[in-house]
Amino acid sequence: MPCQWAHLLVKLHGMTHQTRTNRNIAIIGAGAAGLAAASVLQRTQSVTLFEQHSVVGGLWRTNDNFKHTALYPSLRSNLPAGLMAFLDFPFQRQLIPEHEGDYPGPAAVAAYLQAYAGHHQLIPKIQFNAEVTRVSPINDTQWLIELADRPAQIFDAVVVCNGHYTQPNRPLIEGSTESGLSVLHAKDYINPDPFRDQQVLVWGSKASGMDLVREISTTAKQVYWCGHDLGMDALVQDKSNVSIHADPTKLNRDAIELADGERLTGVDQVLLCTGYQYQFPFLDEALITIDDNLVHGLHQHILLAKRPTLAFIGLPYLVIPFPLFLIQSQWLNAVLTGQLQLPDAPQLIALSDAEVAQHLAKPGEPRHFHRLGADQLAYLVHLIESAALAPLPDIFLARLKAVHEIKLAHPQDFRAIELPSQTFRDPPPA
Ligand SMILES: Cc1cc2nc3c(=O)[nH]c(=O)nc-3n(C[C@H](O)[C@H](O)[C@H](O)COP(=O)(O)OP(=O)(O)OC[C@H]3O[C@@H](n4cnc5c(N)ncnc54)[C@H](O)[C@@H]3O)c2cc1C
Repeated sequence: MPCQWAHLLVKLHGMTHQTRTNRNIAIIGAGAAGLAAASVLQRTQSVTLFEQHSVVGGLWRTNDNFKHTALYPSLRSNLPAGLMAFLDFPFQRQLIPEHEGDYPGPAAVAAYLQAYAGHHQLIPKIQFNAEVTRVSPINDTQWLIELADRPAQIFDAVVVCNGHYTQPNRPLIEGSTESGLSVLHAKDYINPDPFRDQQVLVWGSKASGMDLVREISTTAKQVYWCGHDLGMDALVQDKSNVSIHADPTKLNRDAIELADGERLTGVDQVLLCTGYQYQFPFLDEALITIDDNLVHGLHQHILLAKRPTLAFIGLPYLVIPFPLFLIQSQWLNAVLTGQLQLPDAPQLIALSDAEVAQHLAKPGEPRHFHRLGADQLAYLVHLIESAALAPLPDIFLARLKAVHEIKLAHPQDFRAIELPSQTFRDPPPA
């Protein structure tokens, strides 16, 4: 929707709209996205969070020895704490062990999320060990939430915050099932010990690929890093046992064939860093369809156009996640309260379809519809302007710029570079 039009709508309706508050809102998941949604929506609505585990923090929880999460013990955030934090709650320095510097590991992020939940008094609103098994509309205005091991409950709106780093994306290439090669996914990774003295092919050139290639190279004999992104060499030029190659096209026990015709022999292990897939096992296909990782029918990556009381926080990736979750939640709050009036469902559906069609018409892969990357600021500004939210703080923009510049100049060891202290000093507590 063009910004000016949306603004006008807010202004017009600001004079006439009826504020809709105190409705019962279900939030599925108490990871970073669910906590952000709850912290915002609880100011105007009555919220209940359902979390299938016994703690908050989602992906970052460390209580099962990383066996079931995409993270691993040595992982360090790829954003400094001062940029990663929610805009309304600084990342307290004392949560981060000295040796982690500005880039916290999982335990520190988990502690931060726990502190965030405490700060916003969210814990009493969370039903723990409560797995949502089904979400279905009862009538035009209400939803039934079915749960494993406890009675179903009725809500006026549902916010899905179930994360999207659970279901590994394993590209189907020739031989991937029958080659007999050991093919692992980054989700299985815990430490580099199993790769000692081996020849390892790592496929995938985004942040996880880079981090795991560098870590595995400390024990492996040789790492073949396969992908098609420019600039991969610069990320590993200090590693003599890492070489860069094209994407694999066929897996054989004896030789792996690559897109440029090269054949790699003697590979012991393949590690896929090929991302994850969206999944909403509790939603019927009649409500939502996912096609090659593109979630159809959403307005602004948030609202289900045909039933705009079902929303999703946290779908976009290649973003600064926590601040984005907060702004998406504020936008959603404006919609739920009636502060921001949207067009009716048929028009929302048309807008959503047009956006998908525009994406599919562009060259590139359909599966990256929710990958915002360089478009994330424009997206955030659009949400902010359309719902008349507080603008992005200058300090956030300054930190974003500083980190961008550091990563450009020091792609392989950005975590070791000192941050500009002026920009990264947190304001004293109010
Ligand atoms: C390897 C890796 C590194 C990353 N590094 C960074 C980083 O450095 N900085 C950064 O900001 N982000 C990073 N991220 C991005 C990460 O996605 C976000 O930080 C954030 O954790 C996502 O939060 P979420 O709430 O969307 O999902 P999650 O953290 O996955 O939380 C979802 C929650 O929903 C619950 N849930 C799911 N299904 C149900 C159900 N049916 N019923 C009840 N509960 C349910 C889950 O148990 C979980 O608690 C990284 C991601 C990965 C995979």
